[in-house]
Amino acid sequence: MKLAHFAILMSLLTLLLFHIPFYCFVFKNLKLTSYSGIMLIVNLIVLMIVVNALFYYLIYFLFRFIAKVLMVISFIINSVALYFIDTYGIIIDESMIGNIFNTNYSESSSYISLKLVIYIFLFGVFPSIYISKANIILPRARRFALVSVQTVVFIFIIVYANSNNWLWIDKNSKTLGGLAMPWSYSVNSLIFYINNKKKTEREILLPKATIQDNEKAVIILVIGESARKQNFSLYGYNKNTNPQLTKLSNVYHFDAISTATYTTAGVKSILEHKKSDDLNEILPNYLYRNNVEVIWRTTNWGEPPLHIKKYQNGDILRQNCKGVGCNYDEILLTDLEEEIQSSKNNKILVILHTSTSHGPSYNKKYPTGFEIFKPVCNSVDLANCSNQDLINAYDNTILYTDHILSTVIGKLKKMNTYKSAMIFVSDHGESLGENNLYMHGLPIKIAPKEQYEIPFIVWISNNSIQLKSYETLSQNHVFHSVLNFLSIKSPIYDEEMNIFIK
Ligand SMILES: [Zn+2]
Repeated sequence: MKLAHFAILMSLLTLLLFHIPFYCFVFKNLKLTSYSGIMLIVNLIVLMIVVNALFYYLIYFLFRFIAKVLMVISFIINSVALYFIDTYGIIIDESMIGNIFNTNYSESSSYISLKLVIYIFLFGVFPSIYISKANIILPRARRFALVSVQTVVFIFIIVYANSNNWLWIDKNSKTLGGLAMPWSYSVNSLIFYINNKKKTEREILLPKATIQDNEKAVIILVIGESARKQNFSLYGYNKNTNPQLTKLSNVYHFDAISTATYTTAGVKSILEHKKSDDLNEILPNYLYRNNVEVIWRTTNWGEPPLHIKKYQNGDILRQNCKGVGCNYDEILLTDLEEEIQSSKNNKILVILHTSTSHGPSYNKKYPTGFEIFKPVCNSVDLANCSNQDLINAYDNTILYTDHILSTVIGKLKKMNTYKSAMIFVSDHGESLGENNLYMHGLPIKIAPKEQYEIPFIVWISNNSIQLKSYETLSQNHVFHSVLNFLSIKSPIYDEEMNIFIK
């Protein structure tokens, strides 16, 4: 049998034997009456066949005998995974992989049953016998390269042609990824391994810093999520998404671009003193180690490891939070003045890591009172709402961001014994249908500007502090500006990267 035919056959077998739960989920959660729903199902089937066939084609051409061993192993693991999915209704995501790696022998032996043995034989061992005996004719290298490239191009075309459905796929990505074989356990094992390694990764410590004076100073850094510059009326957007900020004095905005288009890299970049692939000591850890009061509040995730005392997530903040805002990002403001004023330190850094404009369900990220731009998209299935409805929902998240930032400023104004400032900067931007692209995450070199043009908004408590003028800021400007504002001297401080005039 020719390798291409063998790869397609293996892929079809993988589809038929192991993907009934995957397509049951898709059928259950998609509107089958809509044209886009049907197209998505057809494309998901085509895509799965093509991707898996390409995978088998590549590994067999490159590794021959070893590829056969890998395929046998994958069919056996697929059969075990399918058994657990069918029997216990689980999905194989990263946390499930964590459970599996932490299961000891006596626990795992309790799962062995006749049904499991039947699954392994029927779906694992029988196909494996065929795989081991199959006689495969290899293509020439030129033909192999041509087929591989054509297939990759075909995959890209299908993915791009379905960009209307990315929101739906993103919303259900955890389940879809947890049911797609052999990717669920292989990719999630890799993610689990990488994340575990990251947790223990040691950061490169920065040289000692010293606090220069006793003046009471507090700076609040608000990290935005998927907030793009062009939808802020401060930056000239034609809808009034910043009704509160525009009325306040001492609010300045700068053009800025993010280093990356996804959260973990964007947040790291906001917190580090220079762009780097290494893990340098990040701002909150550095300042905490050098006797600054540091408070980190979050409704988001993806920050580098924090080594500070006051880490407060939604669960912790909810204990003292009252009102409708507790279900949204206003929870980050719970008892904020009290917490700042109870500090014995003169220098305080507060970081609020928000999730306000996180897609794809923008309409779920703000209280109903902020639904000003209407109608909004209530569904991730774009067949059910127009692009404008999606943008309306997104604009409401910016309106809510405007409210949160103004509230933060209001709180700082009341604490008039402190010199204070607020910086708002987003981790990355967002695509909302321009060029048929949605959300974010494209490699920065090819990403459209919507995904990296971010707002960088600064408020200062009094006129004696002034700001330099800049063409465009980077996220790394935050680090040096905070050091300057809190009067902290450090050998790594870079005056060029500081926005304050002092
Ligand atoms: Zn993000």
